[in-house]
Amino acid sequence: MSLTDKLAAERRARLAAERRLELKSRELFEANRKLSQHALKLSGQIIEQREEYEQVREEAAELKDRNKRTEAQLELAEKLAEIHERRLWDSVETITDGFAVFDQQDRLIAANTAWLSLFDYSDVIRPGVPYLDVIRFAAEEGVFDIGDATPSNFIADMLDRWDCAEIPEVTIQLWNGQYYRLLDRRARDGDMVCLAVDITAMKRREEELRDARVKAEAANRAKSSFLANMSHELRTPMNGVVAMTDLLLEGDLDEEQRLYLKTIRSSGESLLSIINDVLDFSKLEAEKMQLRPEPFDIERMLHEVLTLVAPMARDKGLDLHVDCDLFLPSRLTGDPGRVRQVLTNLVGNAVKFTLDGYVLVRVVGIEGEDGDWQIRVTVEDTGVGIAADKQAHIFDSFAQEEQEKNRSFEGTGLGLAISRQIVERMGGEIWVESDKGKGSCFGFSLSLPCDEQDRPDPHGLAPGLSTAMMVGGGDLDQEILSRQLCQLGMEVRCVAGGSDALAEVRDSFCPQIVLIDERLPDARGSELAGAMRLAGLHSATVLLCADTRSTEQETERDTVDAILKRPILRSELFRILASLTVQDESDSAPYLDDVQAPPSNPKPELKPEPKLEPSAPAPVPAFSSRRHSTPIKPASAPNTAAAPAFRQMRVLAAEDNRTNQFVFGKLVKELDIDLAFAANGREAVELYDSFRPDLVFMDISMPEMDGKDATSAIRRLEAGTRHIPIVAMTAHALSGDKEEILSAGLDHYLTKPMQKAVIMAIVKEACPRGCRPPLVEQVSVAE
Ligand code: ADP
Repeated sequence: MSLTDKLAAERRARLAAERRLELKSRELFEANRKLSQHALKLSGQIIEQREEYEQVREEAAELKDRNKRTEAQLELAEKLAEIHERRLWDSVETITDGFAVFDQQDRLIAANTAWLSLFDYSDVIRPGVPYLDVIRFAAEEGVFDIGDATPSNFIADMLDRWDCAEIPEVTIQLWNGQYYRLLDRRARDGDMVCLAVDITAMKRREEELRDARVKAEAANRAKSSFLANMSHELRTPMNGVVAMTDLLLEGDLDEEQRLYLKTIRSSGESLLSIINDVLDFSKLEAEKMQLRPEPFDIERMLHEVLTLVAPMARDKGLDLHVDCDLFLPSRLTGDPGRVRQVLTNLVGNAVKFTLDGYVLVRVVGIEGEDGDWQIRVTVEDTGVGIAADKQAHIFDSFAQEEQEKNRSFEGTGLGLAISRQIVERMGGEIWVESDKGKGSCFGFSLSLPCDEQDRPDPHGLAPGLSTAMMVGGGDLDQEILSRQLCQLGMEVRCVAGGSDALAEVRDSFCPQIVLIDERLPDARGSELAGAMRLAGLHSATVLLCADTRSTEQETERDTVDAILKRPILRSELFRILASLTVQDESDSAPYLDDVQAPPSNPKPELKPEPKLEPSAPAPVPAFSSRRHSTPIKPASAPNTAAAPAFRQMRVLAAEDNRTNQFVFGKLVKELDIDLAFAANGREAVELYDSFRPDLVFMDISMPEMDGKDATSAIRRLEAGTRHIPIVAMTAHALSGDKEEILSAGLDHYLTKPMQKAVIMAIVKEACPRGCRPPLVEQVSVAE
């Protein structure tokens, strides 16, 4: 081989070696790169693991810490729980009532000593014992007094009781006489918590109270019967005093004697009313007052009450006003006697305690959902009023505003207490609002059924009436009246006096009705009416006045169409509106030139009687009664010629009290009757046989035989023959007396003092055919 070849071969070998070397170094480089990458990753992982380890280590340390703390807390909690449990049981042990807890399977968990004492600390009653065993032990061993029940029934009842959703309370008596009230409740987790409350002391107290009540009731009955007897004893002589005074007053007396006698009579009557108050009060106290509901007319009742107090109000110069709801049914159902008593008391007090001003009675009502009417009556006055601190007690018995030492008003202090009890007995309320020195407003509310199928629709009561003029000073009555007329759908124009009224008329205001107050500032009402009539105004005129009689006398009959008396009652208003003949509005007279203002005060002369226009409405006579009755003529000379064959009516009066016999004789002295007296029940029965009376008046309390027994005996004797009316005369006024007396066979019931008119009416009514009329008929004559 040549050198060249050798060199070339060497060069090729060298180049190949260089290429391999380069390849190897590239591979080495790559391996190095991978190696360093791996090393980098490894070192990352190492760091990460180290961190994790660090974290785990920290967490482990923390856990260890927490564990230690929890352990400490647990230890503390255990201690606290122990303390609380001990405190709880100390407390539970301290209470004198029994306490026990049963688990969901009704096994005893724990109980305090008081509870265990119920079972006389028996070994049987221990934790784990089922409730059934507890009850069985109590019933069968006689620990509980189960009365007439058998142990099995008692156990069954007690187990049933535990099954109730609301476990009822039960009272048990133990063998030693102690009483416990068992109160058991199922807790939310199903445990049963039991409480046994020692009520022995309460039971003893109840028994004592029951005994005391029985004794008090007996004493109360004794008091009531004492009061009944006392009332009889008091009323009998008082009847004598009042009736004899009446008789004396009929005789010839000089003024002084008359005054003395009237004083005796009014004192006697006041005494009787006080006796009634005391009786009512004792009846209410003894819960013996029974309500007797029946339909009554509340407005008429109000009228009667106001009539009663009117003389006193007039003497004191007080105005009485009434504001009765137009929409109220007139007939309501309640105990009229008792409602009237409350009304009389409140209105009487208002007049008594008012020195000047007015008394206003308002009655309003709304129909409740149940159909009953909620009636609200208020009595407002401008009197002395009641201090605020006294108002709360004013309805208490014997409560009076005035001090004993400076009394200026009479009274017993019982009226309001009685009224409150009556109203509350009727399910109502009574109240007072007052301003010392300014006045008071007493009120009561009651819920009463309405007795009317068709209650009045006031809108229909004034058909065709649409305009009215009210002439007057705008006092309460006028205010109320104009409001009521508005409620009836009328347009009402109010003017102060006569000249204003005439000015309105001159301005072409021609109302259908003109309501004129008798006391106008510039004239008398009747004069204004006359002036209007004279001028030819066609309106119907109504005069408002306090006293119709005097006004009627003074007023020419043609001047006004009607007179409305104060206090203005709703029924009167309706009656008068219905009676008025009014012009249709379109027919109203136009403005009249010659309408003149009436002469102003001082008292003007009346104009000559005006001539009515032909178209003017026919005047309606004033509504107050113009009819009077002649006095009853003595029957001492009966018209025997007219009925010669008729005999005298025979009347028997059984009365033991000689004064009362005398009074009775005097009361019937004008009657043409044959009167016989019996001094007791036995004599009455004998006289029934021999005297054959047509009518018997029978006293109830009489010696030997009382009126009830005598009546029964007479009823037996008359069996199969004519029924003779027997009328009880009694001073007994307690509730229930009437029923008892009537049930003995009497036909009527009269309380003393006897009233002449009532006796006469009864005698007349009882007069049988074949007898002469005992009294000459009352003759009514037109004035
Ligand atoms: P009496 O009027 O018989 O004293 P009441 O029970 O009727 O008894 O009234 C109790 C008291 O209430 C009265 O004494 C009076 O002080 C006060 N009183 C009652 N009504 C009124 C009234 N309208 N105005 C002022 N005080 C009144």
